[in-house]
Amino acid sequence: MGSFLQDPRDPAHKKEKLGKSMLLLAILALVVLGMMVCSTARPKAAKEITIDELYKSIGQGVVENLNIDATSRSVTGSFKDGTRFKSQVADPSNLEKEAIARGIKITANSEGGGGGNFLLFWGPTILLILALIWLARRSSQANGPQLKSFITSNKETVGDWEARLGLSFEDVAGCEEAKEDARLYIEFLKNPGSFTDLGARLPRGLLFIGPPGTGKTLLAKAMAGEANVPFAYINGSDFVEMFVGVGASRVRALFTEAKRRAPCIIFIDELDAAGKARGMSNNYHPEQEQTLNAILAEMDGFKSDGGILVIGATNQPEVLDAALLRPGRFDRKVVVPLPDLKAREAILKVHGRKIKLVADADFSEIARGTPMASGADLANIVNEAAIFATLRKAIAVEQQDLRNGMDKALYGSERKSAVVPRKEMEIVAYHEAGHTLVAKFVPGVDPVRQVTIIPRGPTGGATHFLPEEDRHIHGKKYLTGRMTVAMGGRVAEMYKFKQETSGAREDFRAATGIAKSMVLELGMSERVGKRVFITRSEFLGSVSESLDCSPETRRIVDEEIKKFLDEAYDQASQIIEANAEKLEALAQALLAKETLTGKEVDEIIASA
Ligand code: ADP
Ligand code: ZN
Repeated sequence: MGSFLQDPRDPAHKKEKLGKSMLLLAILALVVLGMMVCSTARPKAAKEITIDELYKSIGQGVVENLNIDATSRSVTGSFKDGTRFKSQVADPSNLEKEAIARGIKITANSEGGGGGNFLLFWGPTILLILALIWLARRSSQANGPQLKSFITSNKETVGDWEARLGLSFEDVAGCEEAKEDARLYIEFLKNPGSFTDLGARLPRGLLFIGPPGTGKTLLAKAMAGEANVPFAYINGSDFVEMFVGVGASRVRALFTEAKRRAPCIIFIDELDAAGKARGMSNNYHPEQEQTLNAILAEMDGFKSDGGILVIGATNQPEVLDAALLRPGRFDRKVVVPLPDLKAREAILKVHGRKIKLVADADFSEIARGTPMASGADLANIVNEAAIFATLRKAIAVEQQDLRNGMDKALYGSERKSAVVPRKEMEIVAYHEAGHTLVAKFVPGVDPVRQVTIIPRGPTGGATHFLPEEDRHIHGKKYLTGRMTVAMGGRVAEMYKFKQETSGAREDFRAATGIAKSMVLELGMSERVGKRVFITRSEFLGSVSESLDCSPETRRIVDEEIKKFLDEAYDQASQIIEANAEKLEALAQALLAKETLTGKEVDEIIASA
């Protein structure tokens, strides 16, 4: 925790600080009281669940403890979230075995859940005591250079601003596209003047977009290392405090320091915590607004030749305030995706260099077994493997250690999301193969540049298209073609698995958007006519749309949108049915290689 960025010698601030501490204490006391009230209310309300539900919950690892009464064949217990349940069991010994195998606490027969009550009472109490200690320590903290203590007290901070990071692009495997984008900025940081000599103005902010652990922080650090400039790590949530004004003053202090040290890199992790769009949540705090405004003002304030590069990282760019994404702020987006097969092998190799390995270790086997693993997961696998080897007192890490490390890191408790059932991979493979195949047979759409079953965003895989030229005017054929391609995913899933899944949501959203636009503002529907029906207004950065037409027209509009979408779906169905063996070949190739280039796609389609 950092100290506040105010002069502690100022008595006014001292008073303020005292007031804040009191407030914190009061809030804590309330929380504790609340928890205790809940804890006394809970045991009465044991939920009746079926034995199947209980086994399922045990499988999901959400059961905290169990009390099995073999004579009455009744079970009581509690979930990890504190709620209590009861159930009847036909075969108590089997249940007991299952629970033991899962490491669930089994309590004595007489009174179930006593341990839960104990925890419920002591948990909050211990919390309160810890909080008191923390408060006491904080108020006795020495004055010190305020900014420095804020930045360096951060647990992931690299020492201090002075630090020259020894990292380079060698340490970052995969993410080739992101590295390519980064090179320009490294040149800029190495020699800020040379760009402005010619009048060029570089963007000041880069936005790294990708799931956790994909190496966004690592990449930013490597950029600082390559350019040999200072690096500051800040987490967006560090700016968000309970007290109005603190976040904003932290932002200002940070940028003041950055100006002094320029050229340098400021890395704001979890930017969304500080830069959420105004009006995104009902409990939007004025503090957040001030912090956001301070970031915007600072980014506008420094001259682009000053050599400060702000890199923001987020997993959810869609929640960021639109103002952050305007030119001169975080206007350049760089996707840092989960690694595909090749990248995973490369990442394993980078981390393999740090351990002692047998000569014939085969990273490609591990890479093949870890489809959804992030860079951090892979680093963890190598580390776990080294621990296994150490435990068995081996002289080098062997293949079996790597396999064990993989099981430990992925199938162990935390990273279950990295383990994707085979069935799900298959669905994604057919879905993406569907988009790709339709794109090949529908005239007038952009060629496929790459297709992958490794997710690039919150949903499944992705098919990437390469626009042949920059298009500003889209023909009707192109627009209907795009809709047809969007439908290809669902059509392929239905063709293969005869079942709808949630995987087509974004496709439908895109297709609906095109159809709406064609009908409502592009005059492409005969029945609706050549008129613009949408009025857009912007208020506080959020755009709202309203439909400007009579109820009768509205009905026709709906019918026309549906007609466009249905036609696209039918066309996609025809293409897929007529080329079923090509779909099969593409999907199988995707399952084997995860990523296919446009050229590979052409070859597969030509030979299937
Ligand atoms: P993020 O900021 O995207 O959450 P990090 O950069 O903190 O991810 O990654 C955590 C760790 O995972 C890194 O320190 C590194 O050890 C490992 N890692 C992640 N991506 C890569 C990569 N592309 N190459 C090598 N190691 C990686
Ligand atoms: Zn899709």
